[in-house]
Amino acid sequence: MTYKHKLRFNFYCFFHNFTKNIDMNDIDIAVEKIRNAKYLVAFTGAGISVESNIPPFRGENGIWNKFDPKTLDIDYFANNPVECWSQITQMFFDVIDIAKPNTAHYCLAKLEEQNILKSLITQNIDNLHFDAGNKNVVEYHGNTRDLICMNCGKRYKVSDFDLKNEIPVCSCNNILKPDFVFFGEGIPEKALIQVEKDIKNVDVMLVIGTTGEILPASLIPYQAKQNGAYIIEINTEKSNFTDKITDLFLQGKAGEICQKISESI
Ligand code: ZN
Repeated sequence: MTYKHKLRFNFYCFFHNFTKNIDMNDIDIAVEKIRNAKYLVAFTGAGISVESNIPPFRGENGIWNKFDPKTLDIDYFANNPVECWSQITQMFFDVIDIAKPNTAHYCLAKLEEQNILKSLITQNIDNLHFDAGNKNVVEYHGNTRDLICMNCGKRYKVSDFDLKNEIPVCSCNNILKPDFVFFGEGIPEKALIQVEKDIKNVDVMLVIGTTGEILPASLIPYQAKQNGAYIIEINTEKSNFTDKITDLFLQGKAGEICQKISESI
């Protein structure tokens, strides 16, 4: 596993705030591009799940406002699993447990059903794309359905434990780790292989609800662009991608814009 495949923050990011109304001409252009795509790939981030009441990492109501990022550092977790687990349960499992997919998730599921969307790469660990019905989901940062033992490698289902009241322990007595990617850990091999295939084939990429703060995931749209893909970005604010690689920027809530696109496909 090389450094470039390890999860880390992209510190070189800048945000610009401005607002504008959704331009219907832009929606029409997006619809045409999507309809004619031979290999449409979606790339999603925390922004798509905000409308499902899952807090993003950054910002006023963000996870980092309440919790210390070191909780998700792999070395810190290995040395302080009990302390980390109480935070991780509140951070993720309590909210994900009750979260439901929103319009944007369902629109992407419909695009897959229509055989237009070939692959969905998500940075999210909330399972909502699966819940909405997508099958071709690449979970770049792992998932919150499974737990793994860092000692013996055994896997368990989250549903086998009562995480509100217990810290999950392996049969070898080691405290289990959620099977999502911690800072300093590598991206799952299976995800890297699928993303490589997607980048080779993609001709249109939908970038939804992600500002490009997390490496190496944020490199994916750049690689797609380098391979000739047309980049449609849906975000509430300009992102790291907008002025560099985005061909069509649709500013607004993911649910509203995806709905408008979906109605015309
Ligand atoms: Zn074990």
